[in-house]
Amino acid sequence: MVQRCVDYATAEKQKGAKVVGIMCEYTPRELIMAAGGLPVCLCGGDEEMIPAAEEVLPANLCPLIKSTYGYSVNKANPLLEMADLLVAETTCDGKKKMYELLEQRHPMHVLELPQKPDDKDAFEHWVAELHKLKGILEQRFEVAITDDDLRRAIRTMNRERELRRRVAALMTDKSPPITGLELLELKSLISGIPDDLAQYEKALNGMPQRQFDPPLDSRVRVLLTGVPLAHGAERVMRIIEDNGGLVVCQENCTGLKPLYEDVNAEAADPMRAIAEKYFHLPCSVMTKNTARTDLLKTLVDQYRPDCVVELIWQTCLTYDIEAAQIKKYVEETLGLPYLRVETDYSPSDSARIALRVQALFEMTQ
Ligand code: SF4
Ligand code: SF4
Repeated sequence: MVQRCVDYATAEKQKGAKVVGIMCEYTPRELIMAAGGLPVCLCGGDEEMIPAAEEVLPANLCPLIKSTYGYSVNKANPLLEMADLLVAETTCDGKKKMYELLEQRHPMHVLELPQKPDDKDAFEHWVAELHKLKGILEQRFEVAITDDDLRRAIRTMNRERELRRRVAALMTDKSPPITGLELLELKSLISGIPDDLAQYEKALNGMPQRQFDPPLDSRVRVLLTGVPLAHGAERVMRIIEDNGGLVVCQENCTGLKPLYEDVNAEAADPMRAIAEKYFHLPCSVMTKNTARTDLLKTLVDQYRPDCVVELIWQTCLTYDIEAAQIKKYVEETLGLPYLRVETDYSPSDSARIALRVQALFEMTQ
């Protein structure tokens, strides 16, 4: 998948497309696509990038932030090296401050993300921020973004989200035809690649017939919540599935969280429609983030997990502090066993995590 994305971006860039790096699900891909850009996810999941990053960044920092920055220091991500622009955003403090360093190495625009989704002024501020980004894209790429361009991009992204939701919904089956890891591997780094959309269709036609021996209905069904699993950082998911579990649902940003809502392509003002979808994303960087428990309830009803595992990258304060409320909600309201796993990209604690996962699974018997 990674090599395909690199080949695709290289070919599109030669034809004149602009490569735009993004590092968070709050950044609307539709705007980038409407400007003729390719939105490329640049979040780092490789442990080997971290030592170079630690020459500048504190060691005591989220591995996702360090790995993303390390790719730049090592010049190891061809997609980052070919990026014409990075669009970042003010989410957590670690990312926000790392972007100041990344900006010295790559052209960047930072969106100011409101922090209080229930505040009546917050949405208008977000709409204004997206208009600013539209202006930056138009100026930098010398294009004029029309409402028709926006609607075309909205339809492509809605189609991609719908296909990915349908593939994910294969996991609602009592004996799913796919593992959680396989599902995660289907996620592309670049949105809107026509071949990828065709592959999702193909997967939907072929996968329901797949059989596992023994069938996956003997596994413990797990809902994974918390931080996203950037490409290369799938270790905890692998531990869960190697120890008798099956991740039937990822509530996080590499799973269903960004796919759950579409953009209304028929809205009179497509910019406001785009702003609305992204504004509703229930991330822990928001205060308060009550929509996350609503999403958890919906997903638990739909995917019927036996337990919930929350993954926290070390020093991720927003998810770690929110974990207390999530644990309470999962145990008391949803009535499911809950396990919090805090780790980084190093495999040194894998055996300990496996033991805790096994103990959790025993609670589901
Ligand atoms: S978890 Fe939050 S900060 Fe991280 S990608 Fe998702 S929305 Fe962005
Ligand atoms: S996992 Fe937490 S600390 Fe790391 S980038 Fe995401 S929000 Fe920030």
